[in-house]
Amino acid sequence: MCPRKPPKPCSYPNCPELTYGRYCEKHQKQMDRKYSSTNRPFKHLYNTSMWKKLRKQFLQEHPLCVECKAKGVIKAAAVVDHIKAHEGDGKLFWDKSNWQPLCKSCHDRKTVKEDGRWGKKGRVYSYDFK
Ligand SMILES: [Zn+2]
Ligand SMILES: [Zn+2]
Repeated sequence: MCPRKPPKPCSYPNCPELTYGRYCEKHQKQMDRKYSSTNRPFKHLYNTSMWKKLRKQFLQEHPLCVECKAKGVIKAAAVVDHIKAHEGDGKLFWDKSNWQPLCKSCHDRKTVKEDGRWGKKGRVYSYDFK
């Protein structure tokens, strides 16, 4: 006898399919798609010419990474980081007092940390700045 867990109904509301995973095959695919499209729901904000302009301006005014500076290291900032995660909130996104200049490695470190925290809740907000 091979002990196998009994299949459970799909977690999708009103779906009668039995599955060994969380969703039946069909809904798993649907959820994966949904996840990847909601993964960066505010990514378009970074693609606005307004952001590109303000970001450049901000880095000109604040050319040094604040985290490195706090450690006594002088390093050029490459990224405008939101101190408080905006999660698509336009007010936080555009609020300059919520911005800080970071170098790439400090920003990556912060993003990984936040992703770990929010990822558990399914609210991942990593982004790139290409
Ligand atoms: Zn299903
Ligand atoms: Zn840094």
